[in-house]
Amino acid sequence: MTNTNKSKRAPIPQAVRRLWWWFAGPAVATVFGAIAYQIPTVRNATATPDPWITLGIPAIILAPNFLVILPVWWGMRRIKRAVAGTSGRACTNCVHDLSGLGDTGMCPECGRAFDIAADQRSWVRVKVLK
Ligand SMILES: [Zn+2]
Repeated sequence: MTNTNKSKRAPIPQAVRRLWWWFAGPAVATVFGAIAYQIPTVRNATATPDPWITLGIPAIILAPNFLVILPVWWGMRRIKRAVAGTSGRACTNCVHDLSGLGDTGMCPECGRAFDIAADQRSWVRVKVLK
């Protein structure tokens, strides 16, 4: 099945999609933390006039969400540099340099079929390529 629908957006590169999974763990932890806080026993145990504890518990629950931004930012920077270095001719799965391999074919690193024009649209969609 080929993509004949021109209004369809380019798919998000797998390399970027994998990075976004970093957000899943902290997001789940936050949801469970919020649910746990609705349990009266938990709420009463944390009810205290001490503002360090009142603010500290939500801060501890939310902290992983902010901490995970660092590895995702670092990973995106690494991908941007690699893609910029190949002028957008990078595998969307493993970011392998596909320069000199023609416009379609198989990535020699991961075996994924590539189409440079479609892959460049994917890189543009996630703002890795301008
Ligand atoms: Zn690859």
